[in-house]
Amino acid sequence: MTLSCFELGERMLAVEEAREAVVALASGPLPAERVALASLHGRVLAEPLLAPIDVPQNTNAAMDGVALAWRPEALPAGGFLRVAEVLAGHAIDRPLASGECVGITTGAPLPPGADTVIMREQLHLEKSADGEIRVRVDLPERVRRGQNVRQAGEDIPRGATVLASGTRLGAAELGLIASLGFREATVVRRPRVAVFSTGDEVVAPGETLPSAGIFDANRFALMALVEEHGGEVIDLGILPDTRDAIASGLSRAAGDADLVLSSGGVSVGDADYTRAALLEQGELGFWKIAIRPGRPLACGRLGSRGVPFLGLPGNPVASMVTFLQFAAPLLARLQGREGAWPRRLTAVAEHPLRSREGRVDYLRGRYASASDGRLLVSDVGAQGSGILSSMVRANCLIEIDDTRGSVAAGESVTIQPLFRLP
Ligand code: AMP
Ligand code: MG
Repeated sequence: MTLSCFELGERMLAVEEAREAVVALASGPLPAERVALASLHGRVLAEPLLAPIDVPQNTNAAMDGVALAWRPEALPAGGFLRVAEVLAGHAIDRPLASGECVGITTGAPLPPGADTVIMREQLHLEKSADGEIRVRVDLPERVRRGQNVRQAGEDIPRGATVLASGTRLGAAELGLIASLGFREATVVRRPRVAVFSTGDEVVAPGETLPSAGIFDANRFALMALVEEHGGEVIDLGILPDTRDAIASGLSRAAGDADLVLSSGGVSVGDADYTRAALLEQGELGFWKIAIRPGRPLACGRLGSRGVPFLGLPGNPVASMVTFLQFAAPLLARLQGREGAWPRRLTAVAEHPLRSREGRVDYLRGRYASASDGRLLVSDVGAQGSGILSSMVRANCLIEIDDTRGSVAAGESVTIQPLFRLP
């Protein structure tokens, strides 16, 4: 059984252990809601989606040509009589008699009795004196019964599960949902995530930077991460390092958020009132996690609704790395996407990588595929936890587990690809 985050105490936690405890702060997926097709992008299905129709709906032609019942042992001597033309979007219900065919275009339904389509290039048309059109087939020995025909339901049979519950909906999924005729779907409500920064030195971008100040990078990186992971942001701004300001911000957040994220102010020793304010507003655990970058981290529940809270470190890279390791899986669980995060691949280290035994190191790295098909990865240089520019150069985190003191060139490592807008 997973320990709750309050029972973990003062010992050093393994990353997996901390992740499980954080995820356990969410009791399960948020309630479902019906959402219109055009607004489904990025949302997560709350129930499986079943096909209400066969796709394709009709058995239809895969090529332009003629459709007929192919009986090679009884080819009509004067050619097939063309009794109609069927264009895409139209159907004829009259069954074909032996020796008859219809002209057909790609996608048009086959008439009853037809089982084969012969492409136009293989046909000769002759018009007789009384206006009849006869169709002769070139190289009939090459025709296979059933050729160039798409069977009804061959892509998706009616009643089949097309998308599982917990699927996040991207472009292909939206196309598929539309192709089945749905104009809305049942999805999990987007988690509302309140985000705030703390620190007297932290200044909103656009303001004048005091000599001892630093612009608020974390809130904007975290709000973007929240959206990338399916959440809806409630921006609480920068809360000054006073107990009252933080307490009132927290109680506001606890009112309507599903998750509260802060950065900074959870380490021991600095003039941080977050701790005191948090303890006033809820139940809290302060953790030491065997991770770099990323210490310290606070976790808990706020207010009467017991809203999950994560207090991420103040250093910008550390706040992003801990978001990805802890907040992202929690957001996944709130959306019914158990186990969806973190995503991992294996790559070969191009150069030696530094790490330390006894903690998980997350290095900012770049991976690319080599001509032999393997993924190669190298770190992107300076790894200080305040250096955001290396986060920009990175396209993955290299995850070096706590049993490895170092990684030699040529050894395999785990990477977590970072989401990047193309
Ligand atoms: P703290 O965890 O509050 O001790 O902060 C650790 C470091 O991160 C300090 O150098 C802070 O100035 C910096 N920091 C804290 N919050 C932010 C923020 N929102 N944006 C950029 N840097 C920050
Ligand atoms: Mg601080």
